Amino acid sequence: MEEFQVAIIGGGIVGACVFSELTRKGVDCVLLEAGNDVSNGSTKANSGIVHAGYDPIPNTLKARFNIRGNQLYPAMCARLKIDILQCGTLVVTDRENLSGLEELFNRGLENGVQGMRIIEREELHEMEPNLAETIEYGLFAPTGAVISPYLTCIALCEEGVVNGGKVYTNFRVDKIAKSGDIYEIFAQDKSVRAKFIVNCAGVGANEINALVGAPVAEMKYVKGEYLLLDKSQNGFVHRPIFPLPTKAGKGILALPTLHGNIMLGPTAIPCEANDTTVDAEGIRQIKEKVELSVKRPNYKKVIKLFAGVRVISGDDFIVEQMPDTHYYYTLGICSPGLTAAPAIAEYLVNLMLEDGLECKPHTFVARKPYVCTETMSKKALKELIKSNPAYGKIVCRCERITEGEIIDAINSPLNPTDVDAIKRRVRPTMGRCQGGFCLPKVIKIISEQCGIPVEKVCLNDKGSEILK
Ligand SMILES: Cc1cc2nc3c(=O)[nH]c(=O)nc-3n(C[C@H](O)[C@H](O)[C@H](O)COP(=O)(O)OP(=O)(O)OC[C@H]3O[C@@H](n4cnc5c(N)ncnc54)[C@H](O)[C@@H]3O)c2cc1C
Repeated sequence: MEEFQVAIIGGGIVGACVFSELTRKGVDCVLLEAGNDVSNGSTKANSGIVHAGYDPIPNTLKARFNIRGNQLYPAMCARLKIDILQCGTLVVTDRENLSGLEELFNRGLENGVQGMRIIEREELHEMEPNLAETIEYGLFAPTGAVISPYLTCIALCEEGVVNGGKVYTNFRVDKIAKSGDIYEIFAQDKSVRAKFIVNCAGVGANEINALVGAPVAEMKYVKGEYLLLDKSQNGFVHRPIFPLPTKAGKGILALPTLHGNIMLGPTAIPCEANDTTVDAEGIRQIKEKVELSVKRPNYKKVIKLFAGVRVISGDDFIVEQMPDTHYYYTLGICSPGLTAAPAIAEYLVNLMLEDGLECKPHTFVARKPYVCTETMSKKALKELIKSNPAYGKIVCRCERITEGEIIDAINSPLNPTDVDAIKRRVRPTMGRCQGGFCLPKVIKIISEQCGIPVEKVCLNDKGSEILK
């Protein structure tokens, strides 16, 4: 049976950050993920904003990890060779609610957010011509940014693998035993052993805690639904536009994605864990509320509806060590968890080092970024096609993704085998037609490259085969 120093349970952004932090220090570790790929929980369906940090209540873990995570992101993205849109964020309001904006500004100062300013109407509407007419003031926070949340998570896991770590997918932890100093972690017929465990299982974190007798917390689940607009709407807004936040959350926003789409949402609707359906009421709420901040978006350009689930436990994050053990856990990592994840990882790894975790001397290996033929110079593309004609065959017409890029994704460090996993890496089926044209071709390429029959190729997790 394989034995590791550390087993991380859960391949969302928090688990991925812990995995990357440990493998870069030469720690022998494994990441165990229940799904067919990493980044399949809350991490795949959120706004993708690296929050500046004016929102959390001062002196909470949310405030502390938000600010530190925001500071860590630019260097982390540079190291991973992935994009970050350093566009800042805007919270906007009408004349009556200026005091709410000032309160947010002061909270930001207290939390240590740099460079914020309150902007008045003329400059504001020049920055964002599609703001609603009633908007008079905006809080601009230049340290806010936009990333691709799932690609960040994938890149962190890939980096961990090329630096010696292991990722086991389809490993749903269902039992943990302890013999002496060592934990044995089971998933049905499989198991691994580890000296330390870090529970980053998001929606499943309570169940994992229960397996070792660690505290369980009261959990609430709140769904956030989105509308995604086609790239023809690029430029509708240039940065995330928030209304003034309320107790219920940060409100419905309009924002650009890293790839030039526009996103509207999220709603905040209490739900069951793992309920990612979108319904007519959610769509109605998005339309009604987003138009309080921006002019009417072009809803004819909606190409996708999707939802993510926030896992909330009280007012703050829970990031702790179970006393007198090598067991660490995270609970209730809701927003701003994506922003906070690198800082949560830094904190947990420091705790483990104080607790006797051993690091080996290690030479860092940089992760290889994906080829993107669309943004290459004509000359470089010509050379690439000469060396491998698969980069000259366009498979996804909307996003202009070639067969070569899809094959690269299949052969990448986590060896993904499902359509959504390939989509999250290099974007086929992500465009206007949502796979109407290219899905059969993507299935065929996966089947050929992975040596599996076409009727066994899944959309995502086991049981989601597409063809009969
Ligand atoms: C609508 C919405 C919008 C948001 N917007 C933002 C934002 O703009 N900025 C921001 O900073 N934050 C945002 N957040 C919060 C952010 O998405 C989450 O805080 C973050 O993704 C949580 O990451 P995680 O790794 O803790 O959990 P997850 O991403 O859910 O990962 C947990 C993983 O554990 C796995 N798992 C569960 N049980 C087991 C088991 N038994 N064995 C093995 N694996 C298991 C799951 O399959 C999953 O992959 C938003 C959240 C939502 C829902």
